[in-house]
Amino acid sequence: MTIKVLATEVVSKIAAGEVVERPASVVKELIENSLDAGATQIAIEAQGGGVELIKVSDNGTGIPYSELELAFHRYATSKIGNLDDLEKISSLGFRGEALPSIAAVAEVELLSQTSSDPIGSYIYLKKGEVIRKERRARPQGTTVTVHRLFRYFPARLKFLKSANTENSHIAHLVSQYALAFPEVKFSLVLDKRQSLRTTGNGDLREVVSEIYGSELAQRMLKAEQKDGLAKVSGLISPPSLARSNRNYLSFFVNRRWVHSPLLTRATEEAYRGLLMDGQHPITVINISLPTQELDVNIHPAKAQIKFCHEHTIFSSVQKAIKEALARAPIASLKTVPFSLSSEQWQSPRMIMDSEPVFVVAQLPTLELPLLRVLGQLVNTYIIAEGPDGLYLIDQHAAHERILYDRILAQWSQQEVEVQGLLQPITIELSPREEETLRASKGVLSEFGFTIEPFGNRSYMIRAIPALVARANIIEIISALLDSLASKESLNPWEEKIAQSLACHGAIRAGQQLGNEEIRELIKQLEQTKQPRTCPHGRPTMIHLNSRQLEKEFGRIS
Ligand code: ADP
Ligand code: MG
Repeated sequence: MTIKVLATEVVSKIAAGEVVERPASVVKELIENSLDAGATQIAIEAQGGGVELIKVSDNGTGIPYSELELAFHRYATSKIGNLDDLEKISSLGFRGEALPSIAAVAEVELLSQTSSDPIGSYIYLKKGEVIRKERRARPQGTTVTVHRLFRYFPARLKFLKSANTENSHIAHLVSQYALAFPEVKFSLVLDKRQSLRTTGNGDLREVVSEIYGSELAQRMLKAEQKDGLAKVSGLISPPSLARSNRNYLSFFVNRRWVHSPLLTRATEEAYRGLLMDGQHPITVINISLPTQELDVNIHPAKAQIKFCHEHTIFSSVQKAIKEALARAPIASLKTVPFSLSSEQWQSPRMIMDSEPVFVVAQLPTLELPLLRVLGQLVNTYIIAEGPDGLYLIDQHAAHERILYDRILAQWSQQEVEVQGLLQPITIELSPREEETLRASKGVLSEFGFTIEPFGNRSYMIRAIPALVARANIIEIISALLDSLASKESLNPWEEKIAQSLACHGAIRAGQQLGNEEIRELIKQLEQTKQPRTCPHGRPTMIHLNSRQLEKEFGRIS
């Protein structure tokens, strides 16, 4: 093909694709515009996952009638004027791309009133073309309504997930902005349901309480670091409040919600040694630093940033967190149960001296030989002897494998054992968790959960799968909703559910087991189809065969 310049329509769709990836991206751009306009109240509404309708209203400065069309021009912005300004951006927007991009992939209405215009302005665009423009009344501020997103962009529409999933992205996004701006009053209505409402009184802990629940909010620790280039402030979880994924790490730099591997690493390193493997903290961390120290002009979505002095920022964040953790009440500092420091070392508990324990599998599988249990090491590993050497079995991984197989077997045979709760448990969900729950209600009930709405993002748990009945139910449900919402794994839902239930329902490392429990565990492990790996693919055991032992001891070469 010969080289030719693309038609404007094609160019604008390509560019729009970078800014507007999914409905939540539209919400993000509109909220940022409201915040840049100095709004103290922002109301967000979405229907059908945002594909049918997105509406964002604010009480900001508004757009004058004379600039109405200009706002929809590509690279038209009131926020920067020249090259120098690009070096010191203090607004959230600056590229002048959002409104034209949204208008390129949807129908858009904008109604606005400034303090100086005698009467408000209204404009309606379809496929980027102005269809109507007129004077219309409105109190000061702006309302942008986006209809039929991606209607003319079927390629993108095809890649969107269900309306519930898109809603959960919107809920997560609005929650993040509410955390970043506690002094702004946010309201989010999804499919006519009030999903989130904050007071705008400036109290971060109150916003955390609205989003993650009051119990969690009360336990969060205040973090602060004022000296140096970067000022760090916010709330962080004590080690006893960990979560099973990174969805609860929120970072804001100069009030911009950012995804930063650097900040994630700084945070996780500050918690090193305090959390178990696979656990992650909850943080709401604000970093403010001189605008010249920061480059936000990396990607059209503006969620990535570059720091000029990465090391300084890294250590400021780490210091703020470490100091907060050090000030934490001792009771909330949980030491990791398994660590082989010299003080904690304890000799293996031998159980050989009672009757010799030969575990005989009822249905021997080819995978595991009969094992003779010798004892438990640091309350974490089971030591066993087989016909061909020594076996060290990770009790958590082994139990995970057992539970995983059973949970999936019961589900596929539609014979799930259910445990009703005599005392139903109530759980407060975050807006995002609520959307995930609504999306997964059906499949969760197939696995034995009965969860009923109890008003205001509270839910009543009435029944759970019997196989995990001994575990912490609230923890199980939040981990489950996290893993269903997570994009890290593409596994089907039933596998994610079985994995999450198995992981959180299984015996922990550090838990002392009775002899009978150990024998039962090994017996059940022998009956699984893949006893040597846990559902995540990690080994459940290490085998040192007789030959390796002889070699180690120099009996053979
Ligand atoms: P940017 O935010 O990068 O400037 P946008 O395309 O998002 O670009 O918006 C274009 C312009 O429209 C903004 O610079 C601003 O002047 C105006 N604008 C958009 N939304 C609002 C709003 N809610 N209130 C006031 N002005 C707005
Ligand atoms: Mg903008």
